[in-house]
Amino acid sequence: MASIFTKIINGEIPCYKIDEDENFFAFLDINPNARGHTLCIPKKEVDKIMDLDEETYMGLMAFSRKVGKAIEAAVDCNRVGISVIGLEVPHVHVHLIPLNGMKEATFQYKVAPTKEEFEAIAKNIRSKIE
Ligand code: AMP
Repeated sequence: MASIFTKIINGEIPCYKIDEDENFFAFLDINPNARGHTLCIPKKEVDKIMDLDEETYMGLMAFSRKVGKAIEAAVDCNRVGISVIGLEVPHVHVHLIPLNGMKEATFQYKVAPTKEEFEAIAKNIRSKIE
């Protein structure tokens, strides 16, 4: 069965889209650690990051860097941190998290933007993609 993230890529489930190319897709995390928390995924559905072929792994990191630089330009934060966990959704995803301290990196502290805020954040990040 297709993962929830494959359904997002295919447009069957809505998302706040940030960026997309032939092989990768980025969208806002729906339960963010901080405003601007973004997920970058390969379109190829693989569960664990260490099982990605090297080309996809390197491509995912390059794509995440591009999106992460846009987040740093768009969101008021000290820096963007990267986490890969994957215990909830079995489709590789890189968490890009705007950090001002350790609290945003813990996944214990959450924020709850409104739909309008999600849309504004996504638009702002999209405008900074180079
Ligand atoms: P993990 O697999 O532990 O790395 O976490 C999965 C992440 O996916 C969590 O941060 C969720 O908030 C996020 N997530 C789950 N479903 C969606 C969705 N439909 N849209 C955006 N983010 C999601």
